Amino acid sequence: MIIASRKPFAEIKKSIELYENILVVGCGTCVAVCLAGGKKEVGLLASQLRMSFALDKKKIQISEETLERQCDHEFLETIREPLKEFDCLLSLACGAGVQFLAETYPGKKVFPGVNTSFIGVAEAAGLWTERCRACGDCLLAITGGICPRTLCVKGLNNGPCGGMIDGKCEVDPERPCAWVSIYERLAEEGRVNQIEIMFPPTDFRFQTKPGRVTHRAYLRRYNAGSK
Ligand code: SF4
Ligand code: SF4
Repeated sequence: MIIASRKPFAEIKKSIELYENILVVGCGTCVAVCLAGGKKEVGLLASQLRMSFALDKKKIQISEETLERQCDHEFLETIREPLKEFDCLLSLACGAGVQFLAETYPGKKVFPGVNTSFIGVAEAAGLWTERCRACGDCLLAITGGICPRTLCVKGLNNGPCGGMIDGKCEVDPERPCAWVSIYERLAEEGRVNQIEIMFPPTDFRFQTKPGRVTHRAYLRRYNAGSK
């Protein structure tokens, strides 16, 4: 899932303080799971903003709405009518959701309330860690399900580098070297000889931005190539 964290309150408040009728828009999927932008976080931020503007003696109306997803037309459409009364939208979705909200409602001022960090997992309660940088050319099949492009600090396609010490990363001695982890995993699985496969340099054509993926069944409809 996409991991995000709330922006500092002072930054959020400053971005919207010129407006009078503000809707805080949450997203009920990834950012809700990582406790950054779901319904509960929308409520907390809205209350904090109301109190803060009241102390400043500013008459700013703060309302709340949480969609199931902001990266999907189906859910964005559900607020088309109610949005008309607001002069500013504060989105707690990831960067994709914020942009899709702004695209869907041209003319509305849209501001982000979270910083989007990475694609990751819920490793433990309150702890999210990165696992994938969406390289578009996944090599997990031959690295024992461990991603060196993400978990190796240098993103090396072949490793370990010369700085590995006792199985730890030279950049952060607290962390296991990703390539040692890959070696150990492949050894456990009885396919350690795969460590000898030399990967070519990363093909950055797979990472051309902006990315575009068309499902094969929809190629004719969108008249577009698949990636
Ligand atoms: S190789 Fe790593 S970064 Fe690329 S898609 Fe697979 S997990 Fe993601
Ligand atoms: S020690 Fe291992 S994880 Fe650290 S930079 Fe070198 S290869 Fe990557």
